[in-house]
Amino acid sequence: MAKGNYKSKILLVEDEETLAIGLRYNLTEENYRVVWAKDGREALKYFGSQSFDLIILDIMLPYYDGFEVARRIRKKSPQMPILMLSARTAVKDRVTGLEIGADDYLTKPFHLEELLARIKGMLRRKMWYRELTSAQPIYSFGDIEINFENLSCRKGKREFRLTPLEAMVLKYLIDHKGKIVSRKELLEKVWNIGSKVETRTIDNFIMRLRKYLEPDPAKPVYIKSVRSAGYIFSDTKVSSLPK
Ligand code: CA
Repeated sequence: MAKGNYKSKILLVEDEETLAIGLRYNLTEENYRVVWAKDGREALKYFGSQSFDLIILDIMLPYYDGFEVARRIRKKSPQMPILMLSARTAVKDRVTGLEIGADDYLTKPFHLEELLARIKGMLRRKMWYRELTSAQPIYSFGDIEINFENLSCRKGKREFRLTPLEAMVLKYLIDHKGKIVSRKELLEKVWNIGSKVETRTIDNFIMRLRKYLEPDPAKPVYIKSVRSAGYIFSDTKVSSLPK
């Protein structure tokens, strides 16, 4: 089996000692460098003084919980890949996590193989995105301007920030504008992990992007649905699909 990128450095934020020690051992075996933070305060301390490629973040933590840690990390480092871990299966957690900008989400207990696959996918995605955006970080259409580097977005006078995954999905659609992009293609190219993510997840991302960008999200003009085929991006507000 191919080993992880030797240089990738992971901040592991987990207060359950047995789990953390096990994960640190297994991740080190996969050639990742691992720094373990036992609580939210320690996590922010390490994050402030070292650089990381990815963060594994438990939600229930002493001092600051995972949501608060994620919020603070996002402010400084919008593109940092964050994989959230939760013992709770509550939908609310998952939604809050994704809104704050967790890139991915695992519910405990999970299989080590599953965690490793997610990490690998997230790191690959990060590289792909960096290559894709470095040449032309800013894209404008209509009254919208998107900075794909710091993930800030302006629509008229309103400013907001995309999460890394939202930016990746949008970037992919824009790069293929005028062409139909299937959910399967988005799963393979953006998520990098094929069947592990439900296609429903993609629809949720599209719904959120429409809420940000469309004049009327119920009648999208930029990100249109193509029945049983996928999505198509157009920046010219055309009302018909290309032949
Ligand atoms: Ca915990």
